Amino acid sequence: MSPDRINKKVQEIKPSGIRRFFDLIIGRKDILSLGVGEPDFPVPWKVREEIIYSLEKGVTSYTSNHGLEELRQAISEYYRKFGVECFQKDVLITTGVSEGFDIAVRAIINPGDAVLVPDPSYVMYKPLVTLAGGEAISIPTNPDFRLNYERISEYRDLRPKVLILNYPANPTGVSYARRELEEIADAVIENDMLVVSDEIYCELSYNNKHVSIASLNGLGDRTIILNGFSKAFAMTGLRVGYNIAPPDLLDAMLKIHQYCMLCAPISAQIGAIEALKNEEDELEDMRAEYLRRRNYFTKRLNEILEVNIPDGAFYAFPSIQSTGLSSEEFTERLLLEKNVAVVPGNAFGECGEGYIRCAYAVSMEKLKEAADKIEDFVRSL
Ligand code: PLP
Repeated sequence: MSPDRINKKVQEIKPSGIRRFFDLIIGRKDILSLGVGEPDFPVPWKVREEIIYSLEKGVTSYTSNHGLEELRQAISEYYRKFGVECFQKDVLITTGVSEGFDIAVRAIINPGDAVLVPDPSYVMYKPLVTLAGGEAISIPTNPDFRLNYERISEYRDLRPKVLILNYPANPTGVSYARRELEEIADAVIENDMLVVSDEIYCELSYNNKHVSIASLNGLGDRTIILNGFSKAFAMTGLRVGYNIAPPDLLDAMLKIHQYCMLCAPISAQIGAIEALKNEEDELEDMRAEYLRRRNYFTKRLNEILEVNIPDGAFYAFPSIQSTGLSSEEFTERLLLEKNVAVVPGNAFGECGEGYIRCAYAVSMEKLKEAADKIEDFVRSL
């Protein structure tokens, strides 16, 4: 059959390297998986209760395209803790950061616009920029995986329109203190860029309290904040998130959202309202538990491989270069020989080659077993 049946840009992009790996192990009970970035905490009971109650009452309608007013209001108040002065009108409810990112780049990119994407970074950024007609330009960030003024300014001649930012980051765990964000902001302003800032791991910041780049001088009017309920509230399958943006950008995204999505699921929006009530206690416990796992797991990994201590999120990204194996060889052999699943670093860009991503969103018991098996495997090489 002719490949012309398929849109050329879709032919160009590769399927997600995370999903490909996930499909290999799905349904296999014998595998210890540090593969998928899914919290192992249950959705808070009160959230589930509110959703169940709303279903019992038969609340299953569309909402307004913007999303429920009460949720948008709650989000605008919640985001003030990250330094952003915003209001209900600045918030658009999405079906998760995945949709939020898609409508953000579609709303701002014209054909051929250069978009700077850190490498390595989360799998969706480059393909969705390509589908939106942009030129995704990688900024290599290894070995420390940090963006800074110099790294961004090197691309000045390309006249980039957008910087994609994600912190705490998937897959590296890197996050930024205010001082570093100010440097990044200087480069953004000098190059007259917009920022799409994926802050989905903002609650999982261990060293510094999360600061949104939109809160810095001059950045509020240039930034689309993406966030959601998948990670901090373990609501992955409910599909609800939000974009916060200046009015012109919000209106542009709303136009796309109203045609391609109409609205986020009402049950998930009702759950999200509940999640934001009394959030701090549950979040504190969750953060403490992830921190305990991070400390244990990175200590174990550092006995056999080199790993930067993640500032946030729930991923460790050790180098496997000392083993002489490629990322794919390492992950395939680890799966075959020890039944442990991790994701090859090259799924996150060329600069991820030589690394593996391990999600420590599993119990301490499983984490210990995985660390033992990874250690056995590396020592056997
Ligand atoms: N952004 C990052 C950095 C992620 O790691 C993920 C999921 O792993 C997403 C977005 C997807 O978020 P959502 O479930 O809200 O679509």
